[in-house]
Amino acid sequence: MPDRHVGDPAPDDRLTEGFALLDSLVDGRAEQWDLSGEIPLEVLRTAGEKGLLCAQVAGELGGLGLSSRDNGELTAYAGSLCSSLRSVMTSQGMAAWTIQRLANPDQSAALLPELVGGRLAAVGFSESGAGSDVTAMTTTIEVSGDSVVVTGHKVWMTAAHYADLLVVFGQCEGGAAVVVVPASAPGVHVERVADPLGCRAAGHANVRFDSVRLPLSSLLGTPGMPLPLLVTTALAYGRISVAWGCVGILRACRNAAARHAASRVQSGKPLHEHQLVAGHLADLYAAEQVAAQACAHASACWDAGSPDQVVATVLAKHVSAGHAARGAAAAVQVLASAGARDGHVVARAYRDAKLMEIIEGSNEICQLILAQHAVATAQ
Ligand code: FAD
Repeated sequence: MPDRHVGDPAPDDRLTEGFALLDSLVDGRAEQWDLSGEIPLEVLRTAGEKGLLCAQVAGELGGLGLSSRDNGELTAYAGSLCSSLRSVMTSQGMAAWTIQRLANPDQSAALLPELVGGRLAAVGFSESGAGSDVTAMTTTIEVSGDSVVVTGHKVWMTAAHYADLLVVFGQCEGGAAVVVVPASAPGVHVERVADPLGCRAAGHANVRFDSVRLPLSSLLGTPGMPLPLLVTTALAYGRISVAWGCVGILRACRNAAARHAASRVQSGKPLHEHQLVAGHLADLYAAEQVAAQACAHASACWDAGSPDQVVATVLAKHVSAGHAARGAAAAVQVLASAGARDGHVVARAYRDAKLMEIIEGSNEICQLILAQHAVATAQ
């Protein structure tokens, strides 16, 4: 259970039940999943059916209807147990959020209940030539009568190995568009990314779309919308979700490091009484608290519909990812040989956290956005 602070709302029953369900679904198997590179599909389907993977979807559409803040705590809890599962959660939530923002009411009523009914989704914008610069994407979505045709090659789609639905961004009619592609559609080829550095069971895959023909109703929104606007819509959810996931990584690292430092004795006293080790523990605690507060602020902006939502989310993602990467390295340092084993919670955190500095807007891209904001708001 996460720390609560003065002024924090009381935990919702749905959240408490969500923590318990995540505990029972993971059941201490995160290390095993990391080593095998696979989360059992029934675990993901059950988490999906219980609404845990996209918990902000409204109750009337079958979702849990959690606030951003409560969904954040759920995401952090998943992140503290297993970053691969949390990554699948981020993809599913990002798909649901994109549908919520862009789909018409009929599409929302058809698709969102599927996403809270156990079907799994992944989101694709990146391509080999379009990483930080998504505007360089070459995937095309052509409207042809009452069909759309998708042609292109997406890379590193988290959860695509497990997904039933692929939410795909492409160039369309002088602008851009988003389509929902069944993974089973003729012309879709999914190939797993081999040996990822971290989040090894998150099912990253490269996906080729060979003239995939779909009904026009697969298109979300109107063709020819501005690409940056579409991508930013999806990324906003991805960023806040990753940020909360990093809070979970920091909580797991702080707990593992503190427990080890309290129990292991060297030179006649517990490790935590050696001041240089205590310094690591203090830094870890501070990192966890700062990241959690940055995320809580961003979620408060989401829940209030504040115009500060975008910059608060980028800030939370940047602060949390950086702290998670440095915090996980500090935790490995405190455990030393005890944590220097593939699959161990701090070893996993060390690999997983590094990736958080790359995805959903790398450190550098976040810095550019924050710098622009600093200049624009200078007095
Ligand atoms: P590049 O864009 O080539 O960048 C390389 C380096 O240059 C980085 O340090 C970057 O910050 C820096 N750089 C680039 N441009 C600038 C600039 N203008 N100013 C300053 N620095 C710059 N994509 C999806 O579509 N869906 C997913 O679900 C998904 N999941 C992912 C999961 C993982 C674990 C990983 C590693 C990637 C995932 N991606 C996904 C891809 C991810 O979005 C890209 O890796 C990311 O956008 C960076 O692109 P790139 O790797 O091509 O790096």
